[in-house]
Amino acid sequence: MAAKRSEKLLVIALDGLSLEQLRLLSSRLNWLGDMASAGTALVLDTTPLVSAQAIWSEILTGRAWFESGCSGYARPADSLDQLKILTCKDLNVSGSLVRHENPPSTVCINLPLISHSEELVWLSDGSLPGDVAVAPGHLRSREPFASYRPRPYATSIQALADIDGSVRKCIDIERQRLLCALELVRHHPWRTFFLRLSVFDSLAHLIGDEFLQEELSVSDVLWKFLEECFSLLSALVSSADSAHICLISTYSHTRCAGRLNINRVLESEGLCKLMDGLAPDPPLQRRLATLGRLDLLESPTSARPPLADLIVSKVSLAGSPTYGAIYLNTSNRFMDGIVAPPRADDIAKTVFSALKTSIVKRLQLDLDIWSSHVVCPPAQRPPDYVMHYRWHTGKMHMAASRPYAGPDRRTLHPAVPDFMIHVPGVELSDSGPSLFDPNSHPCSTHHPRGFALFLGKDVLTDGAIRPTQLNAMLESSLA
Ligand SMILES: [Zn+2]
Repeated sequence: MAAKRSEKLLVIALDGLSLEQLRLLSSRLNWLGDMASAGTALVLDTTPLVSAQAIWSEILTGRAWFESGCSGYARPADSLDQLKILTCKDLNVSGSLVRHENPPSTVCINLPLISHSEELVWLSDGSLPGDVAVAPGHLRSREPFASYRPRPYATSIQALADIDGSVRKCIDIERQRLLCALELVRHHPWRTFFLRLSVFDSLAHLIGDEFLQEELSVSDVLWKFLEECFSLLSALVSSADSAHICLISTYSHTRCAGRLNINRVLESEGLCKLMDGLAPDPPLQRRLATLGRLDLLESPTSARPPLADLIVSKVSLAGSPTYGAIYLNTSNRFMDGIVAPPRADDIAKTVFSALKTSIVKRLQLDLDIWSSHVVCPPAQRPPDYVMHYRWHTGKMHMAASRPYAGPDRRTLHPAVPDFMIHVPGVELSDSGPSLFDPNSHPCSTHHPRGFALFLGKDVLTDGAIRPTQLNAMLESSLA
């Protein structure tokens, strides 16, 4: 390759939006329409991951969840029921996308996993502990940064009681974020610039995944904001000089058909024991409870026992302490583990068959399972590979041993979950009274399909890419 001068990269993440929704927006917003028709759009396939933390970990590190051990916002530490919240410090974000240096050359606005550092230009996403929302320190007292808030601080119950009010709050937060981004892109020297919006994710959760199509009481307010939002993004792109521009979304939403409690599935086969008297909890509440247990919240959110302690680890052979991730309670991984390593493959087979029987046969749902264990034939696989099993309308659709493209040999991380599962259109839950609840659930749930739109660039890959491939494409634009 010919020697190139140092390049710049601007990534705008519209997390929560699907490629279809991007096309719908492009048909109504001129600037976006021009951008979309001048670029190449690819589907981002993130299966089995639906959490922003796990997907962003793959994008930022270039390593799959089974290589980095990051399958969600946290992972169990010394015991199956003790969660450790993950940050970029646990993940060795050492590529060229996020560089810690002084003065900072990387801008991270509202990115999950990235913790406060004076060596980054950093605007918090509000998911990690700490009072600071803006770095470096000299920005904190200046507008528009002094007024920056990562997210509206309302409980989900308050939000559901006043949806119109909550939509307006989300819009205000997003507008301020865009004003901060514009100020930074113009007046702060940078090499890589990540701006992640939250408004599409919030809208899908507040209104449902059809928030762009339906005639709603907030539609006028919403479309007025979308015009403003994309004109600010247009100003951002125009101010980005010669930077490579990429518009991405790391996941989208789909209508939710119910809540499925993975630990109850395991419990029904005698593999897991949950504490008695559990009340249903949304994932947000579970996350808050985890922060609460670590004394990271100002006031405890409830008098109930912390949700992370609900699996009785002394007698559980397996459990799901975070979304979609199942761990065997092995004695070589956990200090109080009860599964001796020689038994692990047998217990894994029982977990695999419990999932298949409950979810595919009884509930008649589609299911994706990824496992590092040899759980069912055909079991021909190279060592250190993760197998992917997919059931579609009751039939096993595929079993593949090369989930991630690329000739290089990939090594399993010691903290990797034994299983990752995805049930399309179903919200997974790790506690709560019933195994499956078709009545009480959010209106939409995450769908592991996002997109990447490279502007003004010929992209050789066709069709769908993985987050790890997106990492390689972003890195190559900086080479
Ligand atoms: Zn969401």
